[in-house]
Amino acid sequence: MQATPGETLQDRDRLFRLLVESVRDYAIFMLDTEGRITSWNPGAQRIKGYAAEEVLGRHFSIFFTEADRAAGKPEAELRKAAADGRAEDEAWRVRRDGTAFWANVVISSLVEEDRLIGYAKVTRDLTERMTAELRTREDARRLAEAEAADRAKSEFLTALSHELRTPLNAIAGYADLLLLGIRGPVTEQQADDLRRIKLSQQHLLAIINDLLNYSRIGSGTVNYSVERVALAAAVDAVLSMIGPQAAAKEIELVNAAADTQLAALADGAKVQQVMLNLLTNAVKYSPAGTVVTVSCGMAGDNVAVLVSDTGPGIPVEHLENIFEPFVQVGRTLTSSHEGAGLGLAISRDLARAMGGDITVDSEPGRGSSFTLSLPAA
Ligand code: ADP
Repeated sequence: MQATPGETLQDRDRLFRLLVESVRDYAIFMLDTEGRITSWNPGAQRIKGYAAEEVLGRHFSIFFTEADRAAGKPEAELRKAAADGRAEDEAWRVRRDGTAFWANVVISSLVEEDRLIGYAKVTRDLTERMTAELRTREDARRLAEAEAADRAKSEFLTALSHELRTPLNAIAGYADLLLLGIRGPVTEQQADDLRRIKLSQQHLLAIINDLLNYSRIGSGTVNYSVERVALAAAVDAVLSMIGPQAAAKEIELVNAAADTQLAALADGAKVQQVMLNLLTNAVKYSPAGTVVTVSCGMAGDNVAVLVSDTGPGIPVEHLENIFEPFVQVGRTLTSSHEGAGLGLAISRDLARAMGGDITVDSEPGRGSSFTLSLPAA
């Protein structure tokens, strides 16, 4: 009669060996009571890099880092396994070639008839899991730092803007007081100077408002009340605001927004803010005689407002970066145009937050066209 596998003691012993010998994902080996290696499986060879003949008889402390060895960790683990039946550890271990791997180690005491005869040790290589975890943690840390830095920057800008506005308002107030002659008569020349003081004050205030606006948009604290915005009416409103500035520079404004049916689904005040910014730029950067035209239309599923001028145009290498904050074409320290270079950055952020965008098309010497697109109502 033939014995089926596992029936006799020898069979079971053979199968058990086969099991240990087949495992490649775990290092499974035995130690004597002193911690010397007495068996070795292919998993141990794969993970630790030693062949059986190289390690049999050696002390298992060779797998520990220098620091752990100096701290007596190998002996401590054996003592714990002897006392509690098992000791588990997750730490860096060292391969034959000196490289480190993140190991999960379980040491179990082997007891026969109340006598400790050695230890069984199972080691897993968790380096991949560990590095993935470290990467996730590192990514999270970087993100948190970036967010904190962003918040700090926004808070700083907000505080700074508030601090700057208070004295600026006082400057305008006292200039007005003097201009009105309340402190006594002012000569025509003095009145002229006072008006210049006020112009500079307004100019500075506009820059600070831009800064404040920009930091608010960046920190996500801007609320949008989305409604149906009739484009022709918005164009009318904005053109009447920019009228005096255009007239003073002898720039002709043309209202070509004829279709009164066109409407956007957006925040009305912000649409006007963006349009005013585009028109202000067209007037600000163009010489006398320039024609600035505003028109509306459909652009695919969106509605679009087009602000075109026959002004100087923008060099092609600047067409994208004019939308970056603090960018002004041809800016130098002494001769900067009005503004902080935030207008287009703010406008595009606002447009995008409302589900739209701003694009530009320009040719130096011929003019520029800015298109504000928004979801149609
Ligand atoms: P600023 O506050 O300086 O006006 P913007 O962000 O509004 O900043 O504009 C950035 C730059 O883009 C301007 O400094 C100017 O060089 C250029 N620019 C914007 N609009 C026009 C335009 N219509 N024609 C020519 N250049 C323009």
